[in-house]
Amino acid sequence: MNATDRTAIPSEPGAPLPDGIPLAVPALRGNEWRYVKECLDTNWVSSVGPFVERFERMAAQRVDVQHAVATVNGTAALHVALLVAGVQPDDEVLVSALTFIAPVNAIRYVGAWPVFIDAEPDFWQMDAQKAVEFLERECRWRDGALWNRTSGRRVRAILPVHILGHPCDMDPLLEAARQYDLTVIEDATEGLGARYRDRPIGSLGDIACLSFNGNKIITTGGGGMIVTDREDWARRARYLTTQAKDDPLEYIHNEIGYNYRLTNVLAAIGVAQMEQLDDCIASKRRTARIYSERLADIPGITPPRQADWAFSTFWLYTVLVDEVQYGMGSRTLLRRLEDASIQSRPLWHPIHSLPPYRGCQAYRVEVADRLYAQGLSLPCSVGIPDEQVERVSAAMRTSAKNTTAL
Ligand SMILES: *Cc1c(COP(=O)(O)O)cnc(C)c1O
Repeated sequence: MNATDRTAIPSEPGAPLPDGIPLAVPALRGNEWRYVKECLDTNWVSSVGPFVERFERMAAQRVDVQHAVATVNGTAALHVALLVAGVQPDDEVLVSALTFIAPVNAIRYVGAWPVFIDAEPDFWQMDAQKAVEFLERECRWRDGALWNRTSGRRVRAILPVHILGHPCDMDPLLEAARQYDLTVIEDATEGLGARYRDRPIGSLGDIACLSFNGNKIITTGGGGMIVTDREDWARRARYLTTQAKDDPLEYIHNEIGYNYRLTNVLAAIGVAQMEQLDDCIASKRRTARIYSERLADIPGITPPRQADWAFSTFWLYTVLVDEVQYGMGSRTLLRRLEDASIQSRPLWHPIHSLPPYRGCQAYRVEVADRLYAQGLSLPCSVGIPDEQVERVSAAMRTSAKNTTAL
């Protein structure tokens, strides 16, 4: 298998040459083979089976919640989480403009509308102050619900996305949610293992979603999870993800359901991966520490920071590149690194200015656009050899103006 085959994002520009350094590839070094073989040997391959239950128990325990429901992917988990949270067509959901698009699409899957909130400049998460300000200044409490003055729609939920392995500042959001009777649906897909004020993310809101896509900190190839303390919501999530089957023998379905359950084979990989989660986090944090030491004094490069109240997994190590100070912009640097067979990647295009969402409300979004222009994620696979981190760091230094190569 060459490096190109193992690239997590094969369609990305900048896919590395063989012997290049990929952005992030899966690390399958534990009991994956053994558990998958067990599935095949015992004929438990489908969406019921002991590994599904084990994987769910491990996820619930890890996130410190009562219930977990495994799904085919994180996007499906978000879709069903919004349904069980009771988000209705034409409701509004607050979400960061700077995120991978999946949670925003999921809001539309249920017929609701996103209201885009800016990212904050320090840790690049949804700006909790701006979110609260939006709720206070732009909405009105009437008839036991919160209404957006501009759109006339009901604001139903907040969907904080913990991006890049760092948590959002949750306390102001949770406080506002209590005050205005909003549901909090956490997108914890990039942050499994991260903590906010010493509590695992995914346990802070009413319901949360995880992803085990190929580039996440642990992976099942494709997979997701809904986690919640609410027993009724977990039961409903299980029902909706298994075709809303009310009588399996007579094929009675009283609602429209989905075929969203994870298979036992993939859950087997998930169990093996979950066993290695702490090692994966340690590896990511070690990589981040080395990068940040090496890059700290390069003018125009801002390494990622960890808030006092946060434990970050540094899932995807991302820096900001200041074009003037560094001497070239993030996209030029991307191509420079590509020439050195190093794969890097920009942050997501802010969603409020993408075609499907241009008509949606964006509240004071400014910082997200700058982060998009300046952000660049660097190679940080679990277990990336130190020598590769040094090579990337040296390439970053060589490309900078006014610095000499080490
Ligand atoms: C990966 C990801 C998801 C879910 O992705 P799937 O590929 O569907 O598992 C959702 N939200 C964010 C922010 C993500 O990065």
